[in-house]
Amino acid sequence: MNPQERQQIAQALADWFHANGRDYPWRRTTDPWAVLVSEVMLQQTTIPTVLGRYGEWMRRFPTPQALAAATEEEALRSWEGLGYYRRVRSLRAAAQAIVERHGGVFPTEAADIRALPGIGDYTAGAVLSFAFNKPAPLVDANVARVFARLCNSRTPVDSPAGRREQWCLAEQMLHRTDPRAYNSALMELGQLVCTAGAPQCLLCPVRAWCRAKDKNPAELPVKLPKKQTTALEHWDILHVTKRGILLELQPEGKRHAGLWRLPRRSQEEVQGLEHIADQAYSVTRYKVTRHLHRATPGTRPRKGESYIPLHGLEQIPMASPDRKIINTLIPGSHAR
Ligand code: SF4
Repeated sequence: MNPQERQQIAQALADWFHANGRDYPWRRTTDPWAVLVSEVMLQQTTIPTVLGRYGEWMRRFPTPQALAAATEEEALRSWEGLGYYRRVRSLRAAAQAIVERHGGVFPTEAADIRALPGIGDYTAGAVLSFAFNKPAPLVDANVARVFARLCNSRTPVDSPAGRREQWCLAEQMLHRTDPRAYNSALMELGQLVCTAGAPQCLLCPVRAWCRAKDKNPAELPVKLPKKQTTALEHWDILHVTKRGILLELQPEGKRHAGLWRLPRRSQEEVQGLEHIADQAYSVTRYKVTRHLHRATPGTRPRKGESYIPLHGLEQIPMASPDRKIINTLIPGSHAR
C-alpha cells in the first residue's frame, strides 16, 4: 500500500465516521480522565454492559483525585460485575500517579501518559487521539482485523511478527489533521462493518482499497492456534453463624487480590459434609466447577478468613460467582 493510498484510506474513514459514528457518552467528552475510564472499561467488557455502568461510575469517581482518595476496597466494589479486577487496580494506581506526579492534572504529553501505571500502547493511543486529538497509533482486535483484511495479510495477528506489522501500519496510516475521527472510525468499522464473522464489504467506505474483499475476507485475520481450555475444580464451604458468613480475603499476589470469596478447602476436608450446590463458570481459558458444602457448626476461621455480617455484604468487594451463589443460597442477604 503506497503513501497516497494510505492517506486516501485514512480520509475516507474519517469522513465515514463523521457521517456514521455512533454516539456514546465517552465520545461526547474530551476529558482525558473520562476517556481513560471508558477505554479501561471497554477493554474486556461489552459496550452494552459498559453503557449500563459508565455514567454511575463517573458520577462516583469524576476525577483522578476522587478515585485516588478511595480505598482499594471501595474501588473494587464499584467495579463489581465488570470483571478483570486488575483493571480497576491499575486505574486507581494511575489516578494516584496523576495526583502525585502531576498535581491532579491529567498529563498531555505522550511520554507522561505512557508512564502512568497500567497504560499500554493501545490505551495511550486512545487517550491521545480521543481526548487531545493528537495523531497517535492505536491497534485493538477490531483494528487488527481491518488492517489484516485491507492488506490481505496472512501473518497471525496475535504473533510477535503480526503485532509488529499491525503497529507499523497504524503508525504509517495516521491521519494527521483528524486523528480523533480516524481512530474512532477504524474501531467502529471493525465493530459494525468489517466484523469477524461476515464483513459487509458492500457497505464499506474503504472497499476500493481493500485487497481481501474478493478473497474470502471472513477467513482473516489468521490467528495462532488457540490455547486449550483448562478444567479447574474446587471445593468450598458455606458457614453462616450469628456473626455472619465466613469469607476469605484474597491476599496480594493472587488474581482476585482484595476480593472476598467463600472459603476453600481440599476435597478430602469436605468428605462427609453436606453437599449443597455445584456452580460452573468460565474465567479466561479456565472452566471452573465449584462444589459447595455446608460446614459443621464448630468450624473455625483460618488465616485470611473472617465473619462478615450478612447486612454488610453489600459493601465488600466480591467476585461475581461468589456473590451470585450467596444471593441464591441466602436470599435476602443483601449481597447484591
Ligand atoms: Fe473489511 Fe470488506 Fe471493508 Fe475489506 S472491504 S475492509 S474486508 S469490510
